[in-house]
Amino acid sequence: MSAEATIIDLRSDTVTRPTPPMLAAMLAAPVGDDVYEEDPTVRQLEEALAARFGMEAGLFCPSGTMTNQIAIQAHCPPLSEVVCEATAHVYLWEVGGIAHLARASVALLPGDRGRLTAGQVEAAIRPANNVHYPTTRLVCLENTHNRGGGSCYAWSDLEAIAALAKQQGLALHLDGARIFNALVATGQRSEDYGRLFDSISVCLSKGLGAPVGSVLVGSADFIKGCKRLRKLMGGGWRQAGYLAAAGLYALEHNVARLADDHRRAAQLAEALRPLPYVAEILEPETNLVIFRLDENRLTVADFLARLEAQGIKASGFGGSWVRFVTHLDVDDAMVTRVVAALG
Ligand SMILES: *Cc1c(COP(=O)(O)O)cnc(C)c1O
Repeated sequence: MSAEATIIDLRSDTVTRPTPPMLAAMLAAPVGDDVYEEDPTVRQLEEALAARFGMEAGLFCPSGTMTNQIAIQAHCPPLSEVVCEATAHVYLWEVGGIAHLARASVALLPGDRGRLTAGQVEAAIRPANNVHYPTTRLVCLENTHNRGGGSCYAWSDLEAIAALAKQQGLALHLDGARIFNALVATGQRSEDYGRLFDSISVCLSKGLGAPVGSVLVGSADFIKGCKRLRKLMGGGWRQAGYLAAAGLYALEHNVARLADDHRRAAQLAEALRPLPYVAEILEPETNLVIFRLDENRLTVADFLARLEAQGIKASGFGGSWVRFVTHLDVDDAMVTRVVAALG
């Protein structure tokens, strides 16, 4: 296939395919039955991620939706309420799992590009000892924030929310589907996250480039309970070490390079800024570029069709919004091609 014929897929960082060395690592993995806790590669991945985030234990699952929803169920006894941002993935894009699986109420707060403050969370906590209310049990944060355009939390804001949660006896969960993007962009240390959060969901199938999988990390007791919930949801898998090996490979080879994705996202935003048909851009902090079209000049449908005609795929993101995502399978030459096409 010629370079011109190569499709440039900016729809999501989930579209990456495993590279030959990643596939080689997968094929070479020692495996066993993970329901019997006999898969050494799964165990190695779970231990590696737990250690990396300063936690005791990990649980490898097929998807980030599963790790998030297992964590929410585990944190929420009956009649609980979850506090989260109004466009959080756990609320918006997980099929209503908070209602269906955890049967919990949700307090939705408007964020600054998806970010909440401790003051907002505090104001949302239900008064105790009042028979009318559900009990506020859990706060869910998302870092980076997807709908917020890959925005990152400042460490001081995370600390303030964690201090409040501790003082109020609330559990704190992090949807860290793109936590490595946040770490690389801000210079924060993964090990410090374990001090603030009770559970963290980390996706291997996004920017890290593994074909499948997410890992939930937390205390040993918490993860033990989560393992039963995973079985309940049909996520008890067997020789999953072949997939875990891709995650281990990704942790070793594909973290530092996220900085390249961030640089390329900034280049795309730079190219979009002067265009007359672009009304607004959420300035990229990581690998997501979300922007709004002036549909009097160019409709989203038209824009996407014109890109498609040049071999470039992107996603409509609701209303007049479009999302570009940079990832492992988007290189500098492709960014140059996209910039030319935009003009
Ligand atoms: C992708 C994503 C998830 C999990 O998605 P799966 O497709 O279920 O793995 C969770 N949270 C955020 C913010 C995401 O972007």
